[in-house]
Amino acid sequence: MTELDARRRAAAEGRLLPLVEDFYTIQGEGFHTGRAAYFVRLAGCDVRCPWCDAAYTWSAERYPLVEVGTIADRVTATPARCVVITGGEPLLHPLGPLTEILRSRGVEILLETSGTQPLSGSFDWICLSPKRHCAPRPELSLQADELKTVVSCDEDFAWAEEQAALVRPDCRLSLQPEWGAAERMTTRIVEYVKAHPRWRISLQTHKYLNIP
Ligand code: SF4
Repeated sequence: MTELDARRRAAAEGRLLPLVEDFYTIQGEGFHTGRAAYFVRLAGCDVRCPWCDAAYTWSAERYPLVEVGTIADRVTATPARCVVITGGEPLLHPLGPLTEILRSRGVEILLETSGTQPLSGSFDWICLSPKRHCAPRPELSLQADELKTVVSCDEDFAWAEEQAALVRPDCRLSLQPEWGAAERMTTRIVEYVKAHPRWRISLQTHKYLNIP
């Protein structure tokens, strides 16, 4: 086997992953807002949301393949107690090897996914953020601990309710204004949550704090 073949195989098995960036910061949105967390942002996404604020992640070929052990070493070089695996769409890659080594290091493992790909790996928390133009897989809806629905227009409230009907009863529900529509939609979301109190508001507080 050539070295190139070996690397392709390692990538297909999830021992090498295309890494866009990794950094220690504060989780800015969703249920775990405010927690210190190490972010691992993987490349590749075929969901292609028109308002995506991470479009630079879409093409996995642009990014280096990094060994999962190296990623875990970078995590444990910080005081981080939890890791957020995000993208792009991280489930485009087999996440078993990464989550196995992170678990052996004793850190909590959180996933952010749009739910379009089969689940791999083992997580302490799955945040499902489905997109209207690319419905999530039913098994992902059932595994979600948190449903975080982005709202950019009034029609998104009905979509959010449709998605809420697919998750477990104990799944946390949140509505998050799309950043570009936040001025227009935040007031609408406030009124919606007051009228439908099983929902909460999620804000992208990292953007207000000007941190990654
Ligand atoms: Fe961007 Fe996430 Fe949508 Fe992919 S799923 S296009 S990374 S917002």
